[in-house]
Amino acid sequence: MAAIDGLPPLRDVIAAHGLVAKKQLGQNFLLDLNLTARIARAAGDLTGSDVLEVGPGPGGLTRGLLAEGARRVLAVEKDARCLPALEEISAAYPGRLEVVNGDALDVDAAARLQAPVRVVANLPYNVGTELLIRWLTPPVWPPFWQSLTLMFQKEVAERIVARPGSPAYGRLALLAQWRCEAKIVLTLPPDAFVPAPKVHSAVVHLVALPQPRYPADGKVLERVVAAAFNQRRKMLRSALKGVAPDIEAKLRAAGIEPTRRAEEIPLEGFCALARELT
Ligand code: SAM
Repeated sequence: MAAIDGLPPLRDVIAAHGLVAKKQLGQNFLLDLNLTARIARAAGDLTGSDVLEVGPGPGGLTRGLLAEGARRVLAVEKDARCLPALEEISAAYPGRLEVVNGDALDVDAAARLQAPVRVVANLPYNVGTELLIRWLTPPVWPPFWQSLTLMFQKEVAERIVARPGSPAYGRLALLAQWRCEAKIVLTLPPDAFVPAPKVHSAVVHLVALPQPRYPADGKVLERVVAAAFNQRRKMLRSALKGVAPDIEAKLRAAGIEPTRRAEEIPLEGFCALARELT
């Protein structure tokens, strides 16, 4: 039976184009168009937005984004085998889907998009965290995108939204929450994908704040946070010894007891310390 967009079901698309999943490209496909529409809706109102999708594969999420009214979708796919299937979607939505065959780590997507931009993707797990860090640490803020709605392995999603005191709390939580509102909007079991991955997945929705939550120099903050969590079980006075010779005084000036551990310090504390070190 044809789907709502008149295109064939994804199982048929995959069979017709011989899209046997490749593990090295992180290919775990979503075949349920109701689910991909739900992910598209989790990104907010798409009608007036350009959407960047990384890794469209056979196009399940792409179809969700277009059916939910995205003004235009720019889809960057590394696997050329997927292009004919994406061509068919493009023909069903004239002028609204542009496909770029390339590596998302190399393509300058921002230059091809018009504001407002939302990024929505079921990310290849091997490049997901790297792309997220790039999107969170652009040369200028606010960034080219308004929101990121991204599928990750559940364990990675939990690290993005983690609060102080939890084992998942660390660099990723601080980077994300300094500049964004971040929450998990959907959790999916392995059997939602073909082939099924070993672990659960989750969709994180991040909305860019107009400016970072607390003042700090981004580079200094990143350096301090990386050093603090590199030795997360140590007291901060030892973990941060290499950061500044008078680190104990700096920690105190920032309102942090030098005997505390990184895991206990909220974002506000790290920002205060970064200001003391700038
Ligand atoms: N969006 C599809 C879906 O939800 O069914 C496919 C998701 S699959 C998890 C990841 C997709 O990203 C694959 O189609 C894979 O070929 C593609 N991919 C992997 N590495 C990539 C890269 N560096 N740049 C662009 N696409 C990539």
